Amino acid sequence: MGVDLVVRRAQLAPAGDRPPVDVAVDGGRIVAVEPDLDVEGPELRADGRLVVPGLVETHLHLDKAHVAGPDLASGGLQAALAATARAKAGFTPDDVHERAARVLRAGVAHGTTAVRTHVELDPTVGLRGLDGVLAAAAELAGLVSVEVCVFAQEGLSDQPQTRALLVEGLERGATAVGGAPYTDRDPRAQIDLVFDLARAFDVAVDLHLDLAETLEGMQIDHVCRKADETGLGGRVTVGHVTQLALLSPAELDRTARRVAAAGVAVTTLPATDLFLMGRRSPARPRGVAPLGALRRHGVTCSISTNNVMNAFTPYGDASLVRMANLYANVAHVADPEGLADCLSMVTDQAAAIAGLTGYGFDVGSPADLVALDAPSAAEAVARIAPAVWGVKRGRPTFTRPAVVLHQSAAPTTIEVGPR
Ligand SMILES: [Zn+2]
Repeated sequence: MGVDLVVRRAQLAPAGDRPPVDVAVDGGRIVAVEPDLDVEGPELRADGRLVVPGLVETHLHLDKAHVAGPDLASGGLQAALAATARAKAGFTPDDVHERAARVLRAGVAHGTTAVRTHVELDPTVGLRGLDGVLAAAAELAGLVSVEVCVFAQEGLSDQPQTRALLVEGLERGATAVGGAPYTDRDPRAQIDLVFDLARAFDVAVDLHLDLAETLEGMQIDHVCRKADETGLGGRVTVGHVTQLALLSPAELDRTARRVAAAGVAVTTLPATDLFLMGRRSPARPRGVAPLGALRRHGVTCSISTNNVMNAFTPYGDASLVRMANLYANVAHVADPEGLADCLSMVTDQAAAIAGLTGYGFDVGSPADLVALDAPSAAEAVARIAPAVWGVKRGRPTFTRPAVVLHQSAAPTTIEVGPR
């Protein structure tokens, strides 16, 4: 039988003890998964490397990436909000398009195949950020799928014009809506407005929540109540939740049980949270939500990039494997199951949060495949294994050639490609 593509000797996540399999792809979908498949077609060799159905970002700001400058990297949440608000006034659709595409390309090269991007709508930026992000998503649609979550970064209940902009974003196809309740005088009023919009448009909720370094004003219980009340449980995600890092073990356990029961998922954003939190009291936890307790109670969790090169996070290469390793390092995750779960938080759990259908290796699934240079999920996270090739809907999207060490003492001309 002839097929469009066949992947040879892939080690499928998370197993390290099963024999490698071949994956046949035709018409953009997986058509067979078995050892030593008797099919013919162009081949991609995995040679026993781990193959995942692509890495999934559930929380990535494409519109404000690459706006870090010397005046922006001042540190702290309030400073970052103020600096970004100033930068946002100058955004144009073209400049957002260019910066968003740069991040998407970097993510693809690290194995990302799907992104939920959080796009800011408010009277300052209007719909310019959304226009730029949609243009970048359309340009790169063959490499990566982009889902838009429109959200209010500068307040909602105190900023009524923003509601109309969110409605416009939802009418233009956004499939999730969110906010940052800590930016309004009455955070619960904002949460309620976001849930009202989600119900009206039948979309997911994805909120920036409980981003602080004291226990004052936590809203996680209110979000759980709203998820129960509206029946949106299973389609509600909260990001940051750094205040979880300050709870006593007993309180954390109670909260984890509540969050699990409400069907609320949690995303940690370690690069941003480590940068913004823990500035005043270095001996305290560094403000990264401790997901272990949540996972023990069955909460779906993701680890995501959040920001790349801006005032919230003046670092970044859009590598989710690196982000999973960063989280593992901060959370003292060392056992193989725990490390494998960190990879699951950038693959299948992230896919569940992003509502991706058919994510996985079942026959009939979309053929999104990424090989990581490691034999198992745990080792991929521990070693920050590079992605060596990727496939989106059956079409190869990138390859990363093996590094060549030059042991010879003689100097020679070496080509490394354009910068
Ligand atoms: Zn965010």
